[in-house]
Amino acid sequence: MSDFSYGHSRGWIEVIVGSMFSGKTEELIRRLRRAEFARLQIQVFKPIIDNRYSDMAVTSHDLTKIDSLPIQKATEIFTYIKPGTKVVGIDEGQFFEDDLVEVVQGLAAQGVRVIIAGLDTDWQGKPFDPMPTLMAIAESVSKQHAVCVVCGSSASRTQRTAGGDSQVLVGTHDAYEARCRHHFKPEVDQPTLDWKLQREAMVENHLEA
Ligand code: ADP
Ligand code: MG
Repeated sequence: MSDFSYGHSRGWIEVIVGSMFSGKTEELIRRLRRAEFARLQIQVFKPIIDNRYSDMAVTSHDLTKIDSLPIQKATEIFTYIKPGTKVVGIDEGQFFEDDLVEVVQGLAAQGVRVIIAGLDTDWQGKPFDPMPTLMAIAESVSKQHAVCVVCGSSASRTQRTAGGDSQVLVGTHDAYEARCRHHFKPEVDQPTLDWKLQREAMVENHLEA
């Protein structure tokens, strides 16, 4: 249920979760673009920590992007929200503190449609706060799946393939891959694919097509 409507003036909360590479950011951008087609004023926020592809834009692994404002703390949304904003998008919700929950409740109470994308589980397969609470209080929750790089089935987990054991390690193909429940290991594991070779092959295929 991604594009349901409660009418024009009521706020609500939508959550988009899944593993890395499951298309959360693409889906967030798709919903925000649709809101723009409806001539609704939108604003997009992301945590400052997420500068993997761009310092300013929210960018998917496929390099689809939308302008955003990087913020340190969720409460800054109240500082930067403009009168007339009807839809607020927030990417990488798991990198915010628990006060994100109160912030989005406040926005929804003011009549804003809030769409939050984020990881539901961390690299150990454990619920990644504050996403579980947001899933509980949201009107709509979409669980996306990536493709397991080991067996090709639906991937629900994010496998860490480099780095230490901190919960937060910002990276892309250099440190993570998508895996299904059966191929996921709650530890740093050998990468299945050489991500540099895979990336080069993708670019080559793209040029040939
Ligand atoms: P997320 O925000 O969930 O990390 P994105 O929306 O940024 O995901 O990126 C999704 C894109 O990632 C897909 O459209 C696809 O091009 C790419 N991708 C790379 N590896 C995988 C994978 N193992 N499974 C699915 N998509 C992948
Ligand atoms: Mg993303």
